[in-house]
Amino acid sequence: MVQKRVLIFAEQVNGELQPIGLELLGSGRLLADKLGATLSALVLGSNIAHLASTLIGHGADEVFVADHPELAQYRTLPYRRVMTDLIKSWPEPPHTILLGSTTTGRDLAPRLAAHLETGLTADCTDLDIGPFEYSNSKDPSKSGLFRDCLYAIRPSFGESLKARILGPWKNPQMATVRPGVMVPLPWDGSRRGEVFQVPVQLDPSDLSLQIVETVRNLSQTTDLTRAEVIVSGGYGLGSPEGFELMQQLAACFPNSAVGSSRKAVDSGWIPYAHQVGQTGKTVRPQIYIACGISGAIQHRVGMDKSRTIIAINKDSSAPIFKFAHYGIVGDLYQVVPEMIRQLQQN
Ligand code: FAD
Repeated sequence: MVQKRVLIFAEQVNGELQPIGLELLGSGRLLADKLGATLSALVLGSNIAHLASTLIGHGADEVFVADHPELAQYRTLPYRRVMTDLIKSWPEPPHTILLGSTTTGRDLAPRLAAHLETGLTADCTDLDIGPFEYSNSKDPSKSGLFRDCLYAIRPSFGESLKARILGPWKNPQMATVRPGVMVPLPWDGSRRGEVFQVPVQLDPSDLSLQIVETVRNLSQTTDLTRAEVIVSGGYGLGSPEGFELMQQLAACFPNSAVGSSRKAVDSGWIPYAHQVGQTGKTVRPQIYIACGISGAIQHRVGMDKSRTIIAINKDSSAPIFKFAHYGIVGDLYQVVPEMIRQLQQN
């Protein structure tokens, strides 16, 4: 019997798995269970054999490891070739392929889709499997009942609608998924899976681009997607100095970071790396404290899956109070210093 697969691409940097790979496994597990499929993970890099057990512990049934010095750092052409060669070597293409909506995933996914001659739904925030009945009078060959269709759900029209995008006519059905929206499975050391080495055969033309130096972007050091507590400031701060207060509140919590609304970023008060929302980062911390943020839909979509949302706003009719778990109506310049004082005492 031909094996049905859901394949996820697990990104690594310097031998360290990136959170998105584990998030994709969490989502991929649900899809694979619905399909009765194998959940496969593919990781590319150099000296990365140790990553397979982590991927299995987080839900993969099988892991394909492409380990080669030329794959040490991400480059489009070698990665694309190794992935395409592997997928084409299988008797059946995977049912679904998932990549992260990260810098790497956004570069790689469309090229992979083109080489596999299939479609791609980018920047999804939810995924599901379900039946889909379609009638096309102009092209009856496309009509029919598709039992196992990937429902790729993504915000559209400025995030005011959630579009379900379907392409069941050809496998693989492909999607990229926003970091921070899917929940990884807890580690289970008792899980067992198979590990396969992927043969790497590169063409000299794949290596035309050489990486000379990698420079860390210091403004990107704020890893909002990993923080457990985010203190976010909006236009209600009134000035860039307000973010010093946000820093002080964040410093009261371990593993915390400072976020912001776009209006604060556009005002030049804080770098873009801190922006949360539709055109910023999607976050899901344990606690999100929104200070002087009105709660516009474009901000909300990036943070409303946070476990606990606390809003501080002087306007009791601000939209953020409609979805915050706790709300404080008041001037943030009175409320936040008092919060800091109380937290420092405890
Ligand atoms: P405002 O809406 O001006 O709200 C400021 C709030 O502060 C008010 O509610 C006010 O009552 C309160 N306030 C003022 N002073 C105080 C005080 N002293 N104490 C307490 N409260 C006070 N926005 C994002 O955030 N992220 C995005 O990714 C994003 N993407 C966008 C994409 C598109 C295509 C578009 C069209 C818009 C996008 N926006 C985004 C912008 C979004 O629509 C809002 O304009 C923005 O979120 C508003 O930011 P804000 O809440 O900080 O400011």
